[in-house]
Amino acid sequence: MGTWMLGDIAVDRVVEVEGPALPPDVLYPGAASEVIEAHRHWLEPGLLDPASGLLVISFHSFVIRTAHHVIVVDTCGGNDKSRPGKVRYHMNSHPYLDNLAAAGIVPEDVDFVLCTHLHVDHVGWNTRLLDGRWVPTFPNARYLFGRVEWEFWERQYQSPAFTDDPYYEDSILPVIEAGQAEFVDTDYQIDDGVWLEPTPGHTPGQVALHIEGGRRRAVMSGDLMHTALQCAEPDLSSCFCVDPALSARTRRAFLERHADTDTLIMPAHFPTPSVGLIKPAGAAFRFAFA
Ligand SMILES: [Zn+2]
Repeated sequence: MGTWMLGDIAVDRVVEVEGPALPPDVLYPGAASEVIEAHRHWLEPGLLDPASGLLVISFHSFVIRTAHHVIVVDTCGGNDKSRPGKVRYHMNSHPYLDNLAAAGIVPEDVDFVLCTHLHVDHVGWNTRLLDGRWVPTFPNARYLFGRVEWEFWERQYQSPAFTDDPYYEDSILPVIEAGQAEFVDTDYQIDDGVWLEPTPGHTPGQVALHIEGGRRRAVMSGDLMHTALQCAEPDLSSCFCVDPALSARTRRAFLERHADTDTLIMPAHFPTPSVGLIKPAGAAFRFAFA
């Protein structure tokens, strides 16, 4: 697996699972079938699987090694989690920790865990099952949760109307109870050359993570966009967006700002190689995989 270097900051991608996952008209309820058809020729076969008709989605973490710290960004779906409402994440046994070890990292090495937002597929490896209890996977890490994000989901979670799977109980609360959670502002600086930026819409407190080292720049953009189709069609928001209109505005502003720059964009779900540049393309953009 490749390593991206920004000066002396190294970034690796650690995959939980990757493959055809969702029909385009389910992920993007606002997409007319003509829109999908207009892009099919470049989406297939790598980004849209011709056999199944499903968009190819990766679930991965990025691991950042600075001179001082090891930072894990987003923790996928996790293993052994009961997710009857979201079967993709139900009782999995992915070799994620083996893949982390292959990148040269054991859980004890990790100093910070950042969840760009608190959806089920970004918090899973926050914890693992040990002797029947959920314990923090990274025993020495401070887990950074956006304060805005936490306050939103905590309200949802305490509402009687909330009937989602128990990912707060098994993936967030054990971290808080262990005293390892820290609630941070949406522009928090984690380390030299590593800082957060608010990217609201997909969720109210979603953040992107910027890295700058050796005159090179990268941005981990979380779920600001799920697939490269949203570069070509920036107004398409996903079925998972809390505020689809704000998500579209945030995405368009992000694409405009980074188009035609050498900033490496590192989204949370783009398939291998997952990372690339934003290029202008007519009235919109395209994603040039690096
Ligand atoms: Zn996601």
